[in-house]
Amino acid sequence: VSEGPAALYTEARSVDDLRGLLAWARSRSVRTCILGGGSNVVVEDVGFDGLVVRIASRGIDLGSYGGRPVVTVAAGEPWDDLVAWCVARGLAGVECLSGIPGLVGAAPIQNVGAYGQEVAETIVALDALRVSDGTMRRFSNSECRFSYRDSVFKREARGEWVVTAVAFALRDGGEPAVRYPDLRRQLDEAGVDRPSLADVRQAVIAVRAAKGMVVDPADPDSRSAGSFFTNPVLPDEDMPFVLRRVEAALGPSTAESMPRWAGADGRTKLSAAWLIERAGFCRGFVRGRAGTSTKHALAIVNRGGATAREILGLATEIRDGVERIFGVRLEMEPVVVGDA
Ligand SMILES: Cc1cc2nc3c(=O)[nH]c(=O)nc-3n(C[C@H](O)[C@H](O)[C@H](O)COP(=O)(O)OP(=O)(O)OC[C@H]3O[C@@H](n4cnc5c(N)ncnc54)[C@H](O)[C@@H]3O)c2cc1C
Repeated sequence: VSEGPAALYTEARSVDDLRGLLAWARSRSVRTCILGGGSNVVVEDVGFDGLVVRIASRGIDLGSYGGRPVVTVAAGEPWDDLVAWCVARGLAGVECLSGIPGLVGAAPIQNVGAYGQEVAETIVALDALRVSDGTMRRFSNSECRFSYRDSVFKREARGEWVVTAVAFALRDGGEPAVRYPDLRRQLDEAGVDRPSLADVRQAVIAVRAAKGMVVDPADPDSRSAGSFFTNPVLPDEDMPFVLRRVEAALGPSTAESMPRWAGADGRTKLSAAWLIERAGFCRGFVRGRAGTSTKHALAIVNRGGATAREILGLATEIRDGVERIFGVRLEMEPVVVGDA
């Protein structure tokens, strides 16, 4: 969503490449930054004064474990190519994640998800290389500590590991997941009653495209990092406070109808897009060369030549506006790379 130069840039096509590059950087005290497809980063304008390593390993392997098909995928495979590959072979479990940009190795980092599906449901294990000494480790699903748009790799172990391969357990001939009303509506409109995996893939891509969430050079709204904020997840005991703030700002009937999803874990998820729009940042809001998507208030768009400062400035304005009115602090989803 923004540009900045790297002092050094290279690609790692194998685990040995990666280990060698990281060892070289360590021996010269050069900082490193791991890049996948670059779809979830905001690059500071001054760039990164170190070595950027783009993961470029390829390969998809189909095996089985405990009677289930397991697909083991190199970190550099494009995510959506993997989804298409699985759908074409009748393997269910990732079809709702069609059209998400980026590479496979980044998918576990924030536990990518969409339309009620997330990779935490299918990842059985992943291999990762430790940045500090080049040793390998296999992480089980539970060791990845996945939660909503989160994993150990975004928190305690941030920057410590490079994911080199990911194994997904899928369902052969399994039913597709249709859990979201948007998706059901799209399938109904297409006259599809009992959807195949391919129908769901097509419907997901259509719904995403209508929201500017499929990277398309012809769609200026897709020049974004996707959702700029995660949906806030609050302890249930905070809800009366938030509802009072919404009622004070927008009236009791709006507070009543505010979208919210109570989880079994004593926490409630709110819609960041709803809060942003109700705080006055409509779709197509413009702040210089940055703005929100005309199709989705949650995406911050580079309208042409916007600097990282402009993008992050608008993000801060939105975050502060939402917090001032509703008392809810939004968390940014993309990762800021580079030297501020
Ligand atoms: C239009 C659009 C729509 C999107 N829609 C969705 C969506 O529906 N759901 C969703 O969850 N996300 C969505 N995203 C966000 C993004 O696609 C995902 O987060 C994706 O997984 C990022 O992949 P990437 O390869 O581009 O990662 P990058 O942007 O290159 O990197 C992101 C972070 O992961 C780290 N990283 C990358 N690869 C590795 C690796 N192999 N090992 C360790 N760390 C690594 C990087 O250092 C960086 O911190 C969207 C983005 C865009 C632009």
